[in-house]
Amino acid sequence: MSHPVKPRKQKSIAKCQAVTAQGEHPQPQLRTRVPLQTPVLVLNASYEPINICGARRALVLVLKGVARTEEEQGSTLHAARVHMPMPSVIRLLEYRRIPHQTRALSRKNILLRDRNTCQYCHCILSTGDLTLDHVIPRSRGGLSTWENLVACCHDCNRRKGNQLLQELADMHLSREPRPFSLHTSRHIMRMMGSSDASWRKYLYFED
Ligand SMILES: [Zn+2]
Repeated sequence: MSHPVKPRKQKSIAKCQAVTAQGEHPQPQLRTRVPLQTPVLVLNASYEPINICGARRALVLVLKGVARTEEEQGSTLHAARVHMPMPSVIRLLEYRRIPHQTRALSRKNILLRDRNTCQYCHCILSTGDLTLDHVIPRSRGGLSTWENLVACCHDCNRRKGNQLLQELADMHLSREPRPFSLHTSRHIMRMMGSSDASWRKYLYFED
C-alpha cells in the first residue's frame, strides 16, 4: 500500500490516512492534495481570520486543546488512537494578538496578492506560467521585498531584463506593488478560500 504522507514528528498523525465520508479510500490519481496538507483556515477567538495552515498543524492545535474545529472537510482522520473529523476551519480558544506582518514573503503569496496577473501585460496565467520580477533588478540593487516583487509572465520578464522601468518606454506597472498589510493578508486568505464554501462566511466576501 502506498503511503501518501511523509513521516514527521507527530507519529500518531503521520501514521494515518484520511478516508472519504463514504468510507472509501480516495483514488490517488484523483487526489489533488495530500489530506494532511489541505489548507485549513485559522480564526482567532474573535472569529477574525488570521492565518491558513496545513491540516496536520490544525489537527495538532485541536488535539492540544488550543483550537476547536468550526467547520469540517467531510473526511475523517484515522490514526492509531484517534478518530476525528478533518477540520476545514478551526478557531483558537484564547484570543491572540497576531502581528499580520509575519506572513512569509513567498512566491505563492506574491502571486496571490497580484491575482496571478502579470503586472506588465495584465495576462492572467497559471502559477506555473508566472515568475517573479524584481521591479528594480537585483543587479541594480533591488531588494526581494513585497514592494519590489511583482507577478510577471516569462515574456515580460525577458523583455525587461536588467533594465529599470524608467529606461523602458513601453512597460508600465499596472499598479504599485503593495507592502504587506492587513488588507494584503485578508486578500490572500480570500484568494485561497474562494473555492472553499465553508470558508466564505469567515472571509467577508460580501464587502
Ligand atoms: Zn506579461
